[in-house]
Amino acid sequence: MHIALCDTRQGGVFKDFAGGFGVGTFRGRSVRGKVIEHFFNRDIRPSALALGYLAAGLKRLGHTVEYCLDELAPADAHVFLPALMTVPRERTLIREINTRWPQSRVLVLGQVASTIPEAFADLNCQVLAGEPEQLAAKWDDVLSSTERAVQLGTIANLDDLPFPDWSPFPHQRFRVGYDFWKFPTAYVQSSRGCTLSCSYCPYIILENKVRTRSPDSVAEEIRHDYDTYGFRSFKFRDPLFGAHKKHLVEIAEHIGNLPRKIQFSVESRIELLPRETLRILRDVGLTSVTVGIETPNRDTLLKYHRAPIRNDKQSHFVDMCRELGIRVVAGFMIGFPEDTRESIRAVLRYAKRVNPFVANFNVCTPYPGTEFLDDIQGQIDSRDWSRYDVYTPNLKYENLTTEQMVALHQDCFRHYYWRWPWLSANWQYLMPRLHSLLSPLFGPRHRETAAALPVTAMALDVIDQPKVA
Ligand code: SF4
Repeated sequence: MHIALCDTRQGGVFKDFAGGFGVGTFRGRSVRGKVIEHFFNRDIRPSALALGYLAAGLKRLGHTVEYCLDELAPADAHVFLPALMTVPRERTLIREINTRWPQSRVLVLGQVASTIPEAFADLNCQVLAGEPEQLAAKWDDVLSSTERAVQLGTIANLDDLPFPDWSPFPHQRFRVGYDFWKFPTAYVQSSRGCTLSCSYCPYIILENKVRTRSPDSVAEEIRHDYDTYGFRSFKFRDPLFGAHKKHLVEIAEHIGNLPRKIQFSVESRIELLPRETLRILRDVGLTSVTVGIETPNRDTLLKYHRAPIRNDKQSHFVDMCRELGIRVVAGFMIGFPEDTRESIRAVLRYAKRVNPFVANFNVCTPYPGTEFLDDIQGQIDSRDWSRYDVYTPNLKYENLTTEQMVALHQDCFRHYYWRWPWLSANWQYLMPRLHSLLSPLFGPRHRETAAALPVTAMALDVIDQPKVA
């Protein structure tokens, strides 16, 4: 069969984020906001990892695969992986396929298909719940089924997945500039799931545990991606990289043994990355760490089941990363139902104090399937999915109007970046090549130059890693 993987970047969507619900991009509403928007929008992030896996799995079955980005092509089957904010767009495309190629099988999968299948109920398509990569394993079952809703289930062993096939995608253009300075960039994953239970988190809808891939397989995929597609940087899409200490150590060891040095970034929690761990990862190519700080308000964190971290530790973590030459991308969250003007300004003040390279101010979003949504059902203001881009308020707030929330959100971005302390602390990441030329002049205070620890000596006992489960 000829299979079309139908994708869109409408609204600047990045489908791989927010547990597969996708996120949009910040839109500035003032001149300063537009400048910030420009920097946020320079990247062409990779297509969703699930699409790469699907391309590989379906080709392995003997099918031909075509990637259709914001356009349609005739095919025997059309596969959609919608984000929340692109549901209206993908519904339009499915309707068009139903009209132009009525014999084509239309399959909708992913997190959106799993949690709100009713969004596609009036269209001629099958809605597949579960992990999207399972489609290749269950292809015959799905095609022989006359049910509109099919359960794909989850992948028992992540090592059974083939390496993603990026050849149908415009992979030479993929870049994530806030994490790296070498491109193109690929997504890679060494684990799925999280053991924590933040009530608003979409990553734990499917499971509240962690599944891992073998470090061998992860390193071999990176080597394959480097040689086959020319990728030079790798963004790990694990929701909680390093949840298992031994696994983290082995991944670092295998990356260190690759024939060529790569750049990579991870997303994790601060307590999982003490200095020695950061240094070990930095020495084998870590350039950037994404962490969720959310809010300095401990009561808010506890209310939404987020394990708090001592505030001074977060500042210390950012300083430590800066010394090691590692960027920090920090997520802050505003727009909780009970937020006030003052509580949001407190988040901004705190962000300025911590002063990471990237501060991303997300608006708390009631994702389908989360405990948070169950808790605040009566306070949903909009179920227009096109607004679910993580930068648009969709709640009825107890103390603020939607317009006030929008204005405060814009203020957070504008006031955070237009500051001399931000520029002076982070210019090295804006101009990494210039900085590496000049860094010998600055001495060790600006970049730690300690001799690389041999990865094989990453004595597990030097890594003081607390349990998060
Ligand atoms: S730490 Fe919280 S927000 Fe992050 S992946 Fe785990 S449950 Fe989700």
